[in-house]
Amino acid sequence: MTTTRREFLQTTSGALAGLAFVGCELMAAAPARAQARRREVVVSGKRVKTVDVHAHCAVPEALALMNLKLGGPLYRPDLSMATEVSTRLRAMDEQGIDVEALSINPNWYTADRDLARQIIKLQNEKLAEACAANPERFVAFATVALQYPDLAAEQLEEGVKKYGLRGAGIGGSVNGAEISDPKFHPFWAKAEQLGVVVFIHPQGTGAPTDLQNRLKGNGYLDNVIGNPLETTIALSHLIFEGTLDKFPGLRICAAHAGGFLPSYAGRSDHGCFTRPDRCAGGPYGPIKKKPSEYLKQMYYDTMVFTPEAVRHLAAEVGASQLLVGTDYPYPWTKTAVDLILNTSGVSDDDRVAMLGATAMKLLGIKA
Ligand SMILES: [Zn+2]
Repeated sequence: MTTTRREFLQTTSGALAGLAFVGCELMAAAPARAQARRREVVVSGKRVKTVDVHAHCAVPEALALMNLKLGGPLYRPDLSMATEVSTRLRAMDEQGIDVEALSINPNWYTADRDLARQIIKLQNEKLAEACAANPERFVAFATVALQYPDLAAEQLEEGVKKYGLRGAGIGGSVNGAEISDPKFHPFWAKAEQLGVVVFIHPQGTGAPTDLQNRLKGNGYLDNVIGNPLETTIALSHLIFEGTLDKFPGLRICAAHAGGFLPSYAGRSDHGCFTRPDRCAGGPYGPIKKKPSEYLKQMYYDTMVFTPEAVRHLAAEVGASQLLVGTDYPYPWTKTAVDLILNTSGVSDDDRVAMLGATAMKLLGIKA
């Protein structure tokens, strides 16, 4: 029997499909092995506990109160801690992440006071439950209704004292208001008083909204540029409006390495030399330090993707201010730990600090 070319191709593709099938079966068996083989990060011969400060989750019951549900690229199903925690733990094991500090991106800033109260209570309870279920692997930032600053202060206190949460996660702006606006002082005062970290994560309703026409087109620019821009603006106002002078004990941690701010810090300083008339001061008078000095008192995740960018960030703000961030479950990186291990120009002590030691101190994580 002669084999036609067509038959040959069919047979071959059938055989390849068979191979692919075997391949999938092998892959399906892989997770169990990966789970057993948790990556342990070692620096200078010592096991280092690693902490990821930028890890998202969501509470489906709280989303429902805002008429939202899990599904699609934004509200990814794996944001759920109730149903997808094994997937998350597997990813953490594979990537060498020992502890995640969970946060929920605010989508409730337009909610009225009663609804906001319900959403926050539900979320903070569920965050506490998720941490209690795997206390070695998770801590969490409380959610707060920052559109009602007095309520947000109460929610932060309750989150920390009643639920054991380690700080608060907030957006880079609140319904168009800058977080440096004096109306937010009750919240900042409470955060300073409790000595807890405030994790600032940009929102799609911030700078990307104002610039939406210019951030259209190819390239995912509303996030790639819009998100770090939102953080850049938020931090700049905290500096220039004097919020960081008014509350010098604040522990701010900014997502995405503080946006563009630490990569162009010199410009923040030189603006006031160039136009002192535009730098007369904010609500509390002139700021007390050089703008770039404030950058060295805030904390940042290391989501900058190249060792050279981490080296530069450390040079600008200090390695002591940097913390690992992955943005899980959004697939920006799976090599956040390697990024730190591969950064040159920093010491092994710096690497240990960035990988987890600093976050453990800030978030009260036991060794
Ligand atoms: Zn994020």
